[in-house]
Amino acid sequence: MEKHKEKGILVVVSGFSGAGKGTIMKNLTRKYDNYALSISATTRAARPGEEEGKSYFFVSKDRFEEMIDRDELVEYAKYVDNYYGTPRKFVEDCLNEGKDVILEIEIQGALKIKKKFPDSLLIFMAPPSAEELRARLIGRNTEDEATVNKRLSRAIVEAEGVEAYDYILVNADIDTCTEKLHNLIRASHDRAEVH
Ligand code: 5GP
Repeated sequence: MEKHKEKGILVVVSGFSGAGKGTIMKNLTRKYDNYALSISATTRAARPGEEEGKSYFFVSKDRFEEMIDRDELVEYAKYVDNYYGTPRKFVEDCLNEGKDVILEIEIQGALKIKKKFPDSLLIFMAPPSAEELRARLIGRNTEDEATVNKRLSRAIVEAEGVEAYDYILVNADIDTCTEKLHNLIRASHDRAEVH
């Protein structure tokens, strides 16, 4: 039988901000080269150290709404007063090249992706404890206390939707968590082939 080139799959990683998603994604893409990390567009202001086109594409509200109207986003959502969305072209190009595309997005977006791409893999990343989560958020020192509290309340709302995800991954150790994620994605390819 002729072996066709396997298409990539979409991997959604959600979880409380402060769960360590960014660190795990960096580690994963450094270790393995078949993963492409999607860069989202957002209307939120850049945090110190964040770079245009690397962390996000930072855009105005008008530009974001234009992207919605022109169907340039695979999904988008509003999160704590700002818009966030996944640019379509990058995702589609990478999937066609056989790369697995990782979307680090929140739950509303995750649900939209699962609907549009039933073979996608939805992972919810959790910190080892609530205390650890608060400590990481405060330690990051990038938001004022009111914003940290808003984000923690939002985390509770997100936790209620956790059953929509395929797996929950506890991030207690960076390397262990990275390997577990890699293995889940490999296993998910086999599942997609059986369909
Ligand atoms: P942050 O402001 O901490 O960078 O991101 C806030 C939340 O928005 C996080 O849960 C993050 O995963 C999510 N997010 C980032 N980009 C996107 C996106 O393109 N779409 C959706 N739906 N959520 C996103």
